[in-house]
Amino acid sequence: MTEKQKKDMKEYDIKKTEKCCLECGNEMEYYRKGKMFCNDLCRSRYHNRTKNWTRHYHSKVIGILERNSSILDDLIRQDITSVDLGDLTLWGYNIEYATSVRKLRTHLEYRCFEYRFYRSDNRIYCIEKLGPVKKKR
Ligand SMILES: [Zn+2]
Repeated sequence: MTEKQKKDMKEYDIKKTEKCCLECGNEMEYYRKGKMFCNDLCRSRYHNRTKNWTRHYHSKVIGILERNSSILDDLIRQDITSVDLGDLTLWGYNIEYATSVRKLRTHLEYRCFEYRFYRSDNRIYCIEKLGPVKKKR
């Protein structure tokens, strides 16, 4: 096959893909530029599928963050403000997830909802809960 034939084949494949429905993958009978689905059923199936995936993904991430914040809450209740990363992971904390990370002059500040801590290579420390604190009686 010559280079020109290869190029033509590639262009043919791209054009063919453009004419395929995003949901079922079938080539569309009536094609116009920008048309993505062969019919309304395929369009709604595609949107439901992607919406479900997004919803599922969001709830998974929120679940991880809630678990992390609940572990931080347990530590604070026990007056523990510094923990080894290995132990933290063992308790089910997922260090890959935080609601924010901010670079300060000498270290990184992490937040998980209303909890704040700093992190070194092997520990988190200065764990504290932000917001209104219950007064001790
Ligand atoms: Zn279709």
